[in-house]
Amino acid sequence: MSEMLLRKPVTAYEKLGKTCAAEAAAYAEDYKSFLNAGKTERECVTEAIRLAREKGFVDFRNGEEKFYVSRHGKALILVRLGKKPPAEGFRIVATHIDSPRIDLKAYPLYEQDGFAMLKTHYYGGIKKYQWMAVPLELRGVVYLASGKKVEIAPEEGSPVLFISDILPHLGADQAKKSVSEAFPGEGLNVTVGSLPEGDDKENRVKLAVMTLLNKRYGMAEDDFQSAELSLVPVGNARDAGIDRSMISGYGQDDRACAYAAVRALFDTPEPKYTSVCILADKEEIGSEGITGMRSAFFDQVLEDLCETEGCALRDAYRNSFCLSGDVCNAFDPNFESVSDKKNNARLGYGPGIFKATGTRGKSGSSDASAETMSRVRRLLDGAGVCWQMGELGKVDQGGGGTVAKYLANRNIEVVDIGMPVLNMHAPMEVTSKIDCWQTYKAFLALYGEK
Ligand code: MN
Ligand code: MN
Repeated sequence: MSEMLLRKPVTAYEKLGKTCAAEAAAYAEDYKSFLNAGKTERECVTEAIRLAREKGFVDFRNGEEKFYVSRHGKALILVRLGKKPPAEGFRIVATHIDSPRIDLKAYPLYEQDGFAMLKTHYYGGIKKYQWMAVPLELRGVVYLASGKKVEIAPEEGSPVLFISDILPHLGADQAKKSVSEAFPGEGLNVTVGSLPEGDDKENRVKLAVMTLLNKRYGMAEDDFQSAELSLVPVGNARDAGIDRSMISGYGQDDRACAYAAVRALFDTPEPKYTSVCILADKEEIGSEGITGMRSAFFDQVLEDLCETEGCALRDAYRNSFCLSGDVCNAFDPNFESVSDKKNNARLGYGPGIFKATGTRGKSGSSDASAETMSRVRRLLDGAGVCWQMGELGKVDQGGGGTVAKYLANRNIEVVDIGMPVLNMHAPMEVTSKIDCWQTYKAFLALYGEK
């Protein structure tokens, strides 16, 4: 009877058989390349467009079967027309490509005690101390006074930047404080130079740095006003674990899902329903702005498509099904106490499906209905995907959200799904190769729905 009636959790490796590790490892190589090419949302959009163009996608043109539209090069929507008209619904995977990081302020550069430094304002939820005493690099864009756009990204052999932390020998006062007191946001100042230049009485180190930026990028100090520059961790994604079963890398929340979605969109043979892949920006700060999931940008692209096809967007939406692809918290054996072990998603068991996220009593979550859960369960089981259910830690321990509710608000049926992550929002996030690969399979199942 227990065979029939009781659930037995089984790892993806056990469920799918030994050959799955090799397939997952091959997928992981492509995924790591995507991570390395896209360390900001802009770079992710550029890379996704490059991959899409290779597959025959074009910048939006009426009547094209495969197209994409980007907003400011920071958010992207990719579409493949299905055999059925859009009025019968879209199959949507909605992900985000912004990740926690450290942005520069508008007047960042100053000199203090012989150092040139940059003032910053962090983006997204970070544990500030994790970003200190680790190598960082500057990426982004600057619009010069003329309006000319300059892209900034490190090259082979570029210097690293860093936020200093006090040595343990002098850390007695720091150690007595709570974490939020010990690491104030205004303390995340980046060291960028120590050599003076010229004969002025002051600001000689600052001038030296500004001179270098001017030579390299044509920048003057005021050009920081029209710039989006971010500090992100240095280095490429790498295999993790002696058994190489995992991937370590920055920005896997949520580029792990973004890559899985893009790949699944490309790899679906002939979609029956119009397939939509969303790479949204600004999720980490509440999905606001014209590139965030709340923006009418996404609706307007799909409305343009519906108009061309002679149907109403509302009909398409009410018949759509969406997987909100976002990574989830993995059970962490070092921090057992924050999770309900019976319900927490675990690394290696496939993507976690979250009926609800939010905080306290599911506040701020779209809480998918049993009808939606039944549908996603049958979809994934039918496709042989290894998946699990998850909970965002113990009740009342904390919480968070995804873009799911912004899809639900549009009358689109939606549920959250994504691979479990260790060290989420840290400079070094960790996923399981098999989970990443099974998330891709889940998105394939949606786009390939018959
Ligand atoms: Mn996320
Ligand atoms: Mn996040």
